[in-house]
Amino acid sequence: LNKKIDKFSDSVIRRMTRIANKYDAVNLSQGFPDFDPPAELKEALKDVAGGSIHQYAVTWGAANFREALAKKQSDFMGIDIDPEKEIVVTCGSTEAMMAAMMTVCSPGDKVVVFSPFYENYAADAILSGADPIYVNLNPPEFDFDPEELEEALQQGVKALILCNPSNPSGKVFSRSELETIAELVDKYDVFVITDEVYEHIVYPPNEHLYFASLPGMFERTISCSSLSKTYSITGWRLGYLIAPEKIIDGARQIHDFLTVGAAAPLQEAAVTALNFDKKYYQELEKKYGKKRKLFLRGLDQIGLNYTKPQGAYYVMVDISEFNFKDDLEFCKWMIKEVGVAAVPGSSFFKGNIKHLVRFHFAKKDETLKKALERLEKLP
Ligand code: GLN
Repeated sequence: LNKKIDKFSDSVIRRMTRIANKYDAVNLSQGFPDFDPPAELKEALKDVAGGSIHQYAVTWGAANFREALAKKQSDFMGIDIDPEKEIVVTCGSTEAMMAAMMTVCSPGDKVVVFSPFYENYAADAILSGADPIYVNLNPPEFDFDPEELEEALQQGVKALILCNPSNPSGKVFSRSELETIAELVDKYDVFVITDEVYEHIVYPPNEHLYFASLPGMFERTISCSSLSKTYSITGWRLGYLIAPEKIIDGARQIHDFLTVGAAAPLQEAAVTALNFDKKYYQELEKKYGKKRKLFLRGLDQIGLNYTKPQGAYYVMVDISEFNFKDDLEFCKWMIKEVGVAAVPGSSFFKGNIKHLVRFHFAKKDETLKKALERLEKLP
């Protein structure tokens, strides 16, 4: 088999979901909602099912989907995005990230990844023939040392991966942090591949800034995102990448041969979501703000230590006090004995950090309450 397979493991996030299901635990591991998408969206899908869009869409995305997306993202990103030349619609941001990496990297290239990181990035880098170099986001604040970043970038790096708001840390990069990164990627002529799937899940006063919107950065940025988290449709697998035309030309070529394209009927139905007005996004932010409050208050009552997330829907909890061999042992024990599943933090970190576990709170309030009741049993 391909030797690259030995360089990464299966997804621990998805493995934890399988174990959680086996033991009927409340699953706060793999981050996806247990509530429905907006009713209009379900209706739109029903209408599409009865219609005639059941064959391939244009490989880089149906025209009306790209138009609606360009309009929405131009508005939020403050950039004028051309739906004809600057977008590729993909099978989730998972494919967007993979295609982005394959578009810019040749075998032997180096890619900078902030650690902790969403586990796909290392596998994406390796599969595209590149070697990841890690730069630490140091818990509990998850800040980085600009000198460490510069040292990494000096090693002839092709691209930097930026997940903002961050999975798993919940960090939202500040303007000054993004400016530091911008200065350095400019100095060392490095592409930036963003993962901004939590762009609309940010807790005030924190604010999410699109990296591509920083002065001069659009030219070197591939902005990847998806509809999964924003519209609670993780199973629809609709994502996209936005970049300047010359990058997009390459990305379209890669994407065409990877998947031909994202599901045409789902793109058609999702146009309804892309046309939602601003109020939808304000409500979404409020909804997650309430869930964060409920879950963190519960953790406070139980007496657990954590880093307060600034965005996304994850929280990293410190388990040092429990005296387990490591976070994986803790998570397995918690599934079986407490009935709650989380992801061992070590699956996100490069290096020896084993005292954190990641819970997600994209669940109905009743699910979160049930999980908290169970967590009260922690010794
Ligand atoms: N992004 C989500 C998480 O980190 C879901 C990952 C997945 O399985 N695609 O849990």
